[in-house]
Amino acid sequence: MKKKLLEVNNLNQVFNSGKANEVKAVTDLSFFIYEGETFGLVGESGSGKSTTGKLISKLQDATSGTMTFAGTDIGTLKKRRDLQAFRKSIQMVFQDPYASLNPRQTIMDIIGGGLVVHGLVKNETEKQAKVYELLKLVGLNPEYATRYPREFSGGQCQRVGIARALAVDPSFIIADEAISALDVSIQAQIVNLLIKLKKERNLTYLFIAHDLSMVKYISDRIGVMNGGRLLEVAPAEALYESPLHPYTESLLSAVPIPDPMKERERKRIGYDEAFHQYEDETDVGLYEIAPEHYVYCKKQEIPFLRKKHEKKTAQIEATKKEGKVWNM
Ligand code: ADP
Ligand code: MG
Repeated sequence: MKKKLLEVNNLNQVFNSGKANEVKAVTDLSFFIYEGETFGLVGESGSGKSTTGKLISKLQDATSGTMTFAGTDIGTLKKRRDLQAFRKSIQMVFQDPYASLNPRQTIMDIIGGGLVVHGLVKNETEKQAKVYELLKLVGLNPEYATRYPREFSGGQCQRVGIARALAVDPSFIIADEAISALDVSIQAQIVNLLIKLKKERNLTYLFIAHDLSMVKYISDRIGVMNGGRLLEVAPAEALYESPLHPYTESLLSAVPIPDPMKERERKRIGYDEAFHQYEDETDVGLYEIAPEHYVYCKKQEIPFLRKKHEKKTAQIEATKKEGKVWNM
């Protein structure tokens, strides 16, 4: 039985509530993340991904909704000690590697800060030893500890950000567009580092990205967000092979295909947000269309989506068979 590490139920975040500039950043968000998996969260800029990350890590308080982490209702955590223990379990890695590191602090202080705050080291010697170990873990030279962020490349800074997150030995990491600001070649290195660390340290990831290209390689399951709502949640392969929500199809059509022949024929599919804005929201929600494959729709649309799923999977099977014959 797979265990759920995080469960989010009907999470809402409204900014400037009641004012003219009110923003519903996150609406009725419900999903869960299994222990040990990587859950990818994708959607274009402004869809509510970062807000979701901040709400889960309690950097921000939700307008409403509940969250359970490792069996504990996060909303009931009141004691300072309990909150601190929770904060230690969930760490974030941010998008802009430079902006997320204090330019006036040495790498030693940046990575060692959390160790001191959480009382994980007894003295300076212990702190140093732990920071050296963490630097090696993320593929950096321990001698870098005395240097400042400006002396490093974006990729190196992101390694520092990862070391800082790992310092307090968390079980859950939220990587919010952690590779988006990096060169493509460096992106792959950081993704590989994250995959390696996950295996070594039994981590669970929420991996946030604005496009679907890299998420595929790292995620077990993927959630697709638009306008503060989750429109589709599915195992990574199912989402790529048989996307069911038109918004997912649109996002996928933006991903370049490595095969030059197919890439030449690739057509961008547009998406109109009015599609998922139902006038009458009765019976609208995320419904399970196929095992572990959820789509945001109206209840009456379920049979249509099940047919669509059947058709797509049949097509894939046929293509795979054809491939086999071809290979002989
Ligand atoms: P994403 O990370 O997917 O780009 P965000 O979660 O950052 O999306 O933002 C979702 C929406 O909420 C956007 O419209 C954004 O402008 C708005 N928003 C985010 N943070 C705030 C805030 N502190 N105050 C007001 N609006 C905000
Ligand atoms: Mg964001």
